[in-house]
Amino acid sequence: MSRFWSDHVVNLAPYTPGEQPKIADLLKLNTNEHPMGPSPLVLEAIRAAATDSLRRYPDNESTALREAIAALHGLDARQVFPGNGSDEVLAHIFNGLFRRGDRPLLMPDVTYSFYRTYCRLYDIPCRTIPLAEDFSIRVSDYTAGHPAQPAGIIFSNPNAPTGIALGLADIEAIASANPDVPVVVDEAYVDFGADSAVALLERCGNIVIVQTFSKSRSLAGLRVGFAMASQEIVDGLVRVKDSFNSYPLDTVAQAGAIAALRDQAYFDQAREAIIETREYLTQQLATLGFEVLPSRANFVFARHPEHEGGALSRALRARGVLVRHFSLPRIEDFLRITVGTRSECERLCNTLSEIFLKTH
Ligand SMILES: *Cc1c(COP(=O)(O)O)cnc(C)c1O
Repeated sequence: MSRFWSDHVVNLAPYTPGEQPKIADLLKLNTNEHPMGPSPLVLEAIRAAATDSLRRYPDNESTALREAIAALHGLDARQVFPGNGSDEVLAHIFNGLFRRGDRPLLMPDVTYSFYRTYCRLYDIPCRTIPLAEDFSIRVSDYTAGHPAQPAGIIFSNPNAPTGIALGLADIEAIASANPDVPVVVDEAYVDFGADSAVALLERCGNIVIVQTFSKSRSLAGLRVGFAMASQEIVDGLVRVKDSFNSYPLDTVAQAGAIAALRDQAYFDQAREAIIETREYLTQQLATLGFEVLPSRANFVFARHPEHEGGALSRALRARGVLVRHFSLPRIEDFLRITVGTRSECERLCNTLSEIFLKTH
């Protein structure tokens, strides 16, 4: 609290990212980063972009990147809205689409916690809808009509931190039942085994898809994310962006992201490795007695009937293994564990066995 702050700053509830500590021999399975580095073509493109031309401002419209994303998804470049990480893209979506007076934004009670942070920042009323007992999104809760017209609907697919994915028919049902409000599908993890709602864009003009280069393209450090939507919606987002920062993507990031899209073979290999290791990790955790939710992401969400989540996460940390634990209703017994390499997953499971031996 400071007398220099604007009034609303006191009431913000900033998002807490997973920690990035400097501990030797640390196993970091807490922020869903990819265990492999980015494609060598990306590094080459970034080096090639590091020239005298950096004295110039970047292309403020990221034209070449938008065209590359559009080509990949069969869209028009005017339907693509890139930003400095998908968190920034989401911020512009909240600001530009969800600030509708008293109309609430609908979201699952368990989903990406940044959504609530943005509601605070932009003063958007939020109505949370409980996930079903099995932690899936209950489609009928979103299609049966609402007490008041919502400002919009948002969820991640696969959902975070559950990892559970919704099928396209369900997403279409939600979008069609709410034709006058934006339905935002945050697909940060879609490349690890869910279907992208891009396929629905032509039929459902109210769908907004958000994707990122941070997870499946191993580029969390480059900060590139993007939305795909109707041109009408993108035009609104561009108005917000150009009232905030016209140059969200620097020259280097644009070059690196374009190169990442060009290396399809590397992308396929990197995501298949994660999917394979995820199935291995799921089995190993089940063998250790965990209940593991069915994940389509690059993490698993698991709880143990005899071990409290917070205590387990602390015991792992004491042994140099970081996982994510959320002290939140319904999910406080769970650990969110990033799928690393096979040997990293082995180390995690060995460490868990050690902890269990000690506490029994
Ligand atoms: C990681 C993540 C993001 C943010 O990704 P950035 O592009 O790195 O900002 C957005 N949504 C969800 C659900 C995520 O897990």
